[in-house]
Amino acid sequence: MEKTLVDVSVVIPVYNEEESLPALFERLFPVMESLGRSWEVVFVNDGSRDRSLGMLLQCVDKFPGKVRVVDFNGNFGQHMAITAGFSSSRGSIVVTMDADLQNPPEEIPRLLAEIDSGHDVVGTIRSMRKDPFFRKFASKIVNRITNRITGLNLNDYGCMLRAYSRRIIELINGCSETTTFIPALAQRFALNPIEIEVGHSEREQGTSKYSLFRLIRLNFDLMTGFSLFPLQAVTMLGLFVAGFSFLFTIYMVLRRIFVGPEAEGLFTLMTINFFLMGVTMFCVGIAGEYIGRIFQEIRKRPRYIVNKVYGDE
Ligand code: UDP
Ligand code: MG
Repeated sequence: MEKTLVDVSVVIPVYNEEESLPALFERLFPVMESLGRSWEVVFVNDGSRDRSLGMLLQCVDKFPGKVRVVDFNGNFGQHMAITAGFSSSRGSIVVTMDADLQNPPEEIPRLLAEIDSGHDVVGTIRSMRKDPFFRKFASKIVNRITNRITGLNLNDYGCMLRAYSRRIIELINGCSETTTFIPALAQRFALNPIEIEVGHSEREQGTSKYSLFRLIRLNFDLMTGFSLFPLQAVTMLGLFVAGFSFLFTIYMVLRRIFVGPEAEGLFTLMTINFFLMGVTMFCVGIAGEYIGRIFQEIRKRPRYIVNKVYGDE
C-alpha cells in the first residue's frame, strides 16, 4: 500500500487565491529547498474562477517533477480538496496548509521534527490568533462542544497547518465519506498525536472563502460526522418536555375539578406554543442534517471530480 517516493508532501487547497499565491510561492519554496529532504507540493485547485490555476501551472513548469496541480471540475470545498491532495500525495510525511499564508510555512520544519520524534499527527494551535473577534469566539465554543460530544481532544480544530504520517494518510485515503473534517478524522486514527503552538497572521490578501452560512454547514459536518450526540440530545429534550407537559396536564385536570375552568392567559399559551414549535423545528432540523448526509452517501456520486492532474509524469 505504501508508495512513498519522497520524504515530504505539502498539500494546499486553493480557491480564488490569485492575490495570495505570489507571496505563498516566495515563502514556501525556499523553506522546501532548505529542508534537506526530497519534497513535493500538491496544489488542489478547488474550482477557482480567477487566475489561480494559471499561476499554479507556472509553478509546475518551474519545479518539474516536484509540483503537481490537481484541478477540480467545480468547487467541492476545502476538506474534499485536501482529501484529493492526500490521494495524490507520495510523501512519507504529509503536511497540509492554507494558501493564504495565515500560517507561516516557516513552521514546517518544526512539524517535521515532531513526526521524526515519533508522533503520527501533529496539530497546531494558533497562538495569538488574528481573525475577526466573532470567528475566534465562535471557534472557542465549537472547540469546546466538539471535544465534549465527539470524545476527541483537540485544542484547535480549525488550524490547517498540520502534519501526518503515511499510516494516517493511508487510513484517510481508505475512507469514502462525502462530508468530512480532516483534523477530526486524523485525530480518530492517531496513536500518538501532539499539538504545538504556531504563529498566526491576518489574511493579507483576498478575503475568507467562508461565509457565515458555509461556516455553519462546515460545523454541522464536524458534528454529524463524528458524533450522534445531537440526535440523542434532542431525544432527551423531547422526553423532558413530554414529561413536564404530562405533569402540567395532571395539574390542569385537578384544577378544573377543584377550582373550575379558566379562560385567561391566552397569550401566555401562545408564547409557550411558539417556543415549543421552535424547539420542534430545531429538532427536526437536526434529524434532517443526518438524513441529508445519509442521502448523500447512498447516492454514491463521486465525492469530487478531477479535470486533470498537471505535473504528473
Ligand atoms: N478553500 C478551498 N475551497 C473552499 C474554501 C476554501 O480550497 O471552498 C481553501 C482556501 O483557498 C484556503 C483554505 O481553503 O487555502 C482556507 O480558506 P480561508 O483562508 O478562506 O478560510 P479561513 O482562514 O477564513 O478559515
Ligand atoms: Mg484563512
